[in-house]
Amino acid sequence: MASIFGHGLVGYTASKLIDSKSSKLLLFLAIGSAILPDLDVLAFKFGISYSHPFGHRGFTHSILFAVCWSVLLSFLFGKNRKLIFAIVLFLSTLSHGILDAMTSGGKGVGFFIPFENSRYFFPFRGIKVSPLGIEQFFSEWGVNVLLNELKYIGIPCFLILITLHFAIKSKL
Ligand SMILES: [Zn+2]
Repeated sequence: MASIFGHGLVGYTASKLIDSKSSKLLLFLAIGSAILPDLDVLAFKFGISYSHPFGHRGFTHSILFAVCWSVLLSFLFGKNRKLIFAIVLFLSTLSHGILDAMTSGGKGVGFFIPFENSRYFFPFRGIKVSPLGIEQFFSEWGVNVLLNELKYIGIPCFLILITLHFAIKSKL
């Protein structure tokens, strides 16, 4: 994974980008959805191996999971804006796997599970893989990860958010 900060920021940005007047609820769900797929690290505790379809970066990082999760949340919370909720949350959830597929370590992402169990990386793999444990995160590794994410995730998201901010202002 990238860190929860990297994933969360991308969820937030995706939400703002697609729906400039995103409610607090939608922003919250988008950030949560962008982080959620890494709950699968619990699989290690149950002895499920990394490369298993339900292992880390497996089903919860797949396209099908993003579809199911976003449809579920949009029905639960979307009220009269179900389509917008579904689109924002689908992209937020999927953004997680997309970021992971650009990281420098671990196994690839099982985008097509359960149809096909291969793991994928993108050709660009400049994002440093983030430590899974909390203690490891407060280490030189953790600092390096945050600096690296600032460059590849933080600055691009910030530029998008700033541009949106002024684009919306100029429309008012
Ligand atoms: Zn992940």
